[in-house]
Amino acid sequence: MSVLLGIGSNLGDSKAFIAQAVTLISERFILLKESSLYETVSLLRDDQRNYYNKVISIECDLSPDELLQFIKELEVYIGRNKNPLYWGAREIDIDIIDRNGTVLDCDRLTIPHKCMSERSFVLIPLKEIDENYIHPITLKSIDEMVSQLKDDLNIQIVDNTQ
Ligand code: AMP
Repeated sequence: MSVLLGIGSNLGDSKAFIAQAVTLISERFILLKESSLYETVSLLRDDQRNYYNKVISIECDLSPDELLQFIKELEVYIGRNKNPLYWGAREIDIDIIDRNGTVLDCDRLTIPHKCMSERSFVLIPLKEIDENYIHPITLKSIDEMVSQLKDDLNIQIVDNTQ
């Protein structure tokens, strides 16, 4: 089934970390689509560096727990250090945005990702790779969600060649 992953970084060589994540993910799964790389200011508007983000879709038949395990191991492998702040700076952050429109809410996982509808750095790259995306719970179209964005993070494409 098709799974959407959001990949972000704002520490170290962010562009390289994100590229490495995409390479390693595509060694394990079929990469279906890959958005451009985007840059946004930090959600917290603190002194954190800007974030880089992209969204990819993959063909993946792992269970949600198995996929989460894979993602966590990948984050550690790529070099994510434990950060004491919940929303602190990070080398790499990989989120499961959507898993073929299925809905899951348990201790470890909420799919679709809880905050996806409010985040420009998820919705704008997602629109690029799936302009027909419909949120499986709210049934809002991607255009509707984008038009209701309030996060104002000044999202910009930084590299359209990947
Ligand atoms: P963070 O690495 O700070 O983004 O937090 C990751 C934790 O959020 C994971 O350990 C998961 O248990 C939890 N989580 C809940 N929903 C999701 C999701 N859709 N994708 C990835 N992690 C999730």
